[in-house]
This record gives sequence, C-alpha cells and structure tokens, in this order.
Amino acid sequence: MKILFAASEAFPLVKTGGLADVAGALPAALAAAGSDVRLMLPAYPEVLARARSIEPAATLGPLLGDAPVRLLTARMPDSDLELLLVDSPPLYERAGGPYTDAHGVDWPDNHLRFGVLSLAAAKVAAGTTDVGWRPDILHANDWQTGLAPAYLRLSGAPNTRSVVTIHNMRFQGLFPAAVLPELQLPALSFTMEGLEFHGQLSMLKAGLAFADRITTVSPTYAEEIQTAEFGYGMEGLLAARRRDLSGVLNGVDYRQWSPASDESLAQRYTAADTAGKATCKSALQHELGLDADPARPLAAMVGRLTEQKGIDLVVSTLPQMLALGVQVAILGSGEAHWEQALTEAAHAHVGVATRIGYDEQLAHRIIAGADLFLMPSRFEPCGLTQMYAMRYGTLPVVRRTGGLADTVREAGAPGGTGTGFLFDAAEPEAFLGALQRGVTMYADRPSWRLAQRAAMQQDFSWDRAADEYLWIYRALAPHLAAGTAWGRTGGA
Ligand code: ADP
Repeated sequence: MKILFAASEAFPLVKTGGLADVAGALPAALAAAGSDVRLMLPAYPEVLARARSIEPAATLGPLLGDAPVRLLTARMPDSDLELLLVDSPPLYERAGGPYTDAHGVDWPDNHLRFGVLSLAAAKVAAGTTDVGWRPDILHANDWQTGLAPAYLRLSGAPNTRSVVTIHNMRFQGLFPAAVLPELQLPALSFTMEGLEFHGQLSMLKAGLAFADRITTVSPTYAEEIQTAEFGYGMEGLLAARRRDLSGVLNGVDYRQWSPASDESLAQRYTAADTAGKATCKSALQHELGLDADPARPLAAMVGRLTEQKGIDLVVSTLPQMLALGVQVAILGSGEAHWEQALTEAAHAHVGVATRIGYDEQLAHRIIAGADLFLMPSRFEPCGLTQMYAMRYGTLPVVRRTGGLADTVREAGAPGGTGTGFLFDAAEPEAFLGALQRGVTMYADRPSWRLAQRAAMQQDFSWDRAADEYLWIYRALAPHLAAGTAWGRTGGA
C-alpha cells in the first residue's frame, strides 16, 4: 500500500498544534506497519533547516500564479520517514509562522500557498510528476490540504483514492469566491455540493465533498460534527456522507511523551516508581516561582489560548480554584486578550503562574510536574495533551466532549479503572465540581495512586490508529487487499 500523507505541519520540523504531532507520528506508524509512505509538506525555512538528505526530485513549474514550484525528497531528522517537500521560495520562504506573519495576521496569499501544496499533492497522486512514485491513497488533512482531493477528482485520475481527516471543524479555510480562477478551479465546482460555502470558497468543504472517505480524530467527534452545535454549518454535508465518515482516535508518540525516557524532566519516573514525579513537581514550582509545597495539588493547562479550550472558564474561576487549595500553572499562546488576562492573573493572585508563548520543553516539564491537567474544552476533536498527561500520571479534568469523552474515565468508581475527572456543562460550577473531586482524591493517597496508575497504564499508541487507517485505505483500494485474509473473504 502506497500512501501520500499531505499536511501543513509536522513535528519535529514545524509545529503549531496537534496536527503536527499527528503528521509527525501517524505516517511513521503506517510505515512501521509495512506501508510505503511519503509525508508531503511545504518547504518552509524551518523544514529545510531541519530535514535530512534533501535532494531535488522534480520540477512542477509554476502551478498557480508565477511562483516556480519543485519537489524535493528528504528524510525526517530523527527517523527514516521519507518526505516530499513542496519548494517554492516566493510562497513559503518567509519569517513567521506557517499560516500567519510574526504578528499573527494570516498571510494574504494563503489560498495560493495551500492551493499549491494541494495541487502538488494531487499531481503526485495522479502520477503526473517526475518523482517516479504514485500512491494508491492520497491522505489530506484539514483545510490546508482540503483542495487536494478536489484537484485529484477533477483531474480524472482513475486509480488513486483520497481520504481527508478533519482535525478541527472550526477552521474551514474560507476565501472569497473571486480566487476561484487563480486556483484553476472550474466554475462548475463552485456549488453547494462542491466547494461553495455561503458564497465563499471553503477548502475544508472541498475535502469533505470530494474525498472518497472522511475521517476525524475521535469517534465521539465524528458523531458531534453531524450536529449544528459542532458542525459549523457543514453538519448537513457530513450527515449526508455519514457512511463515508468515521472517527479514528489519535495516538500518542510515546517516544516523545514518556516520563521514563523524557530528557526534559528533572528526574524520570515510571508507573511502578513515581518518586521522580515529586522531584519534577518541586523543580516546576521552583521554575515558575510557586511555593515548593509538595502537599498542595498543582493544576496545569498547556494549550492554545482560545475559548475552544475553555480558557475563559479557567480564568474566571481562578479565585475559587485557589480557594480549593490548588496552585495553578498555565502555558499558552493565542488570542491577545487572553494572553493579557493571564499575565494580569499571575500578578493578581499568589499561587498562579503563567507563561505566555510556545515552549515545547516547558510543556513537557509542566505535564510531568503537575498533579491535575485542566482541559475544560467547549469542543475537542481529539485532544492530545490529556493523553500525554495521563502517561505522566497527571490526572486530567476534562469536559465530556469529543476525544476527551473517548479517552478519560471518571476516577473513583468501583474497580479503580478511572483516569480523571469529567463534567458536562461548560459552566464554572460544573468545572469546579470536577476539580473539587480531583482535589479530594489527591488527599486520599491510596485512591489517588490507584487512579494515577490506571492513567499511566493507558495505551494510546499509534499502532492501533495506523491499523484502523489501513483498514480504511484497503476498503478504498480493494484490489490491493487481494491476497490478505480480509481480501479473500471478499469484505469489500
Ligand atoms: P490543538 O491541536 O487543538 O491545539 P492538541 O491537544 O491536539 O490541541 O495538541 C496541542 C499540541 O500543541 C500538544 O502537543 C501541546 O503540548 C502543544 N502545545 C499547545 N500549546 C503549546 C504551548 N504554548 N507551548 C508548547 N506546546 C504547546
């Protein structure tokens, strides 16, 4: 099975959030399961600086507009995973982020930047480039590569099937209809059944309309996005395609996220011997200027500062959280008013420490050093940090939504298999109620140890998700499954 996995970010090359963790790990897990996988990314400066064995592979010429485009082959810095880099300096060689400039303003030509990425992916998938390799499956991710299934379908290439994975419905890649000719998209694709969304072009919708299969990153979110509350206007299309839609829970890259081997920690630890976690906690308290009190539960949050993540619930309940006896540590970046609110909160309250910015190593130290991990998200397609927290014995306090509902079980129930604390309403009282249960359990050491052990023993490794994706790919390309047990039983 040959798979082209196209994405706009991938750890450890370039990362703004969970998509990078997925694109950094899932292709490697698919390769480990025996597939021939290439990960396609834009050749941003940080990608060119970090990737290994970069070689020119093919010239694609200008694809959309005048910018020259070529393909480079390369390898991940820390593995043999093969990369196909879309190199177009006028489009990608800029100081700033993958989507925005240094001030957080969207690049004005994002339609071309991600149109070119998508068209390059479709051309490789259609076998019309000189790279000498054509995949059976084109796997696109989110709006940035949403046009790839559309270009592939419109090219008429008969043999390659496409999958699109939704990592977040909220980001729809909307552009004015006027960009249609620049993207070389035929007017007849701009319909309600195609890529038109309320008069605009939606790159996400292009993927949802034209891909052969749609997946999202947890089973619960796959259901939720078929409703008006979570579908952001695309619930009708998703409900109509429900037979092509499924939820595959993301995995955790335990090579990166494991307290037994994590080099950013003050001391490593395991589920059998958690002594090092106390060292991590006191080191973190010291680093963040919090009282080094081992008995006081430390509740932490790491993530994008946006209402999706429930940052408003956390900020508005800080006094009550402190009254419950917890210390609070928050690392995040995002909307300016939340960055400001957090900076002010740290000044206003003893026992609250905040760090604004993006800091991969500090994220590891916080997840290891905290006792409770706060994720009161309004919606959460999968969520990775609650899974990381569990592996580090940091019990998550989460809203029962999306992937949070699929990965966390209420602690304290008979049998001792619970791993965290859940609540339903996105309201301060409900959130504080779950936190209170966590704080109460923290004081009851035997119960806490039981839940901590259950959390640390959860296995969300990528092998399982890779297997599920392989089933999806095989169902799309049944000729390739011939000869396997599944193919012989005629399961297509
Ligand atoms: P989302 O993709 O919605 O942002 P996820 O939980 O799926 O949320 O993934 C977020 C990823 O980004 C995790 O690896 C998390 O550790 C990381 N992350 C988010 N914000 C920060 C930050 N300010 N500093 C370091 N890492 C961060």
